[in-house]
Amino acid sequence: MPEQMIEIPMDKENEAFFEWSAKEELRIQGCDSCDRLRFPPRPICPWCHSTDSSWRVMSGRGSIWSFAVTHPPLLEPFLSRAPYNVVVVEIEEDPLIRLIGNVVEDRKVGLEFVKPDELRIGAPVRAVFPVVEGEPRLLRWALEPG
Ligand SMILES: [Zn+2]
Repeated sequence: MPEQMIEIPMDKENEAFFEWSAKEELRIQGCDSCDRLRFPPRPICPWCHSTDSSWRVMSGRGSIWSFAVTHPPLLEPFLSRAPYNVVVVEIEEDPLIRLIGNVVEDRKVGLEFVKPDELRIGAPVRAVFPVVEGEPRLLRWALEPG
C-alpha cells in the first residue's frame, strides 16, 4: 500500500532550507551583518536586527542533543514507520543551532531507522538526504563512528 504523501508547509523563509536539502546540502541562514547563524529561518536577525542574510554551507556534522522514540497512536502517514526515532541534533558550527530529524541507516534510497538502543546523547552524526518515495528530500542523520 503506498504511503500518504508528506507535505511540508513552505513559506518564503523556510523555502531555501528545503531547496538546499533537495540538493543534498545542509545550509543554515546566517546574518550578513553580525555573522551569527540562526534557525529556524526568519527575515530579521534576532541579535543585530539586520535584514541581510545568506545561506551558509555547513559541514553536515553534529551530535545528538536529545531524542525520543515514537509509538502509536500517530498520524496516518507516520503509523507504518513506528516505532521510529526523532532526534534533536546540535550542529558542529554552532551548538545553539538544533535541528530535528531521524537517525537512519546511511543509504541513498529508502528509510531504515536505526534501533533505539544504538542512540545516545552526544553521539556524533552526519547529515544525509536519502530519497524516500512519497516525500520531498529531507535532512536526516546517520551515526558516525566515535
Ligand atoms: Zn545579525
